[in-house]
Amino acid sequence: MPDEIRPRQPIPKNPDVASFMRRFGESAACVAHLREVRWGANLERFICPDCGHDRGWWLPTRGQVECRDCHHQTSPTAGTVFHGARVPLWKWYWAMYQEAYSKKGIAAMALAKQIHVCYQTAWTMLQKLREAMHQRCQRYLLQGLVEIDETYVGGKEPGRPGRGVEKKVPVAVAIELNKDGRPRRIALRGLKRADARSLTDFTTDHVAKGSCLRTDGWGGYASVAKAGYEHEVVVTGGGKKAVETLPWVHTFIGNLKRMILGTYHSVSPKHLDRYLAAFVYRANRRWMEAKLFDRLVVAAVSAKPLTFKDLTAGAK
Ligand SMILES: [Zn+2]
Repeated sequence: MPDEIRPRQPIPKNPDVASFMRRFGESAACVAHLREVRWGANLERFICPDCGHDRGWWLPTRGQVECRDCHHQTSPTAGTVFHGARVPLWKWYWAMYQEAYSKKGIAAMALAKQIHVCYQTAWTMLQKLREAMHQRCQRYLLQGLVEIDETYVGGKEPGRPGRGVEKKVPVAVAIELNKDGRPRRIALRGLKRADARSLTDFTTDHVAKGSCLRTDGWGGYASVAKAGYEHEVVVTGGGKKAVETLPWVHTFIGNLKRMILGTYHSVSPKHLDRYLAAFVYRANRRWMEAKLFDRLVVAAVSAKPLTFKDLTAGAK
């Protein structure tokens, strides 16, 4: 049974200060990097937000692009998650560095101490980055053979295994397997309750129609499969443990629980989906570790920005 997901390249255990400093030690380096991620090396993707003109020049001393037509100046942070932030860009870059390269992400308290901001600021920054990852994770569907199961996370007291646990939050898990039966991509979602209806919604949102769902023998999955899927039931019981029938599901669930316990101790149900998104984001990009950071910057730049009010209002 696989006990851990092993990436082809080792992920650095702790993103080190030295490598960060070499790349982004000065704010100007962060601004230049962000400009390039957003608009290309020669500003070929630049569009003036004021007049729509597509040519501009870079003003290095101001760290802004000036439109050649109307002379409006635009900062690379405008309209992104970094927009209007009083937090200097290098602090955002450090937070992204930690989120991209730490196996388990970083907790707000630790980040606050590292970059000298208050807890609420660090928390908000991380939520915004995870929201960007969350939006990124909505852009594709799993397909082919997909294992589906559910688990429970959070809560302080040790939960009884299986369905019917009250205090913890149910989480739906889907894992796309390749031809060799190894995991490719995963999807997760916190559920209000682990019933057939919620699992059907989760499945139709994350798994392409016509795929084959592999599940345990719980009756609810038969109705999930009726939403347009083939269905392969792996019979549990007869002395076989669930962990042997859907080993990859249990591997990922184990890793997820270790992340939540190790880094966050507990997660409120309201923000659970963003924590899950950070886990999914790293898991689905574990083969492209070298590009993880740049891709996170792209996600941050492309995401619909949220305010602190958005983040704290209502359940996600
Ligand atoms: Zn313009």
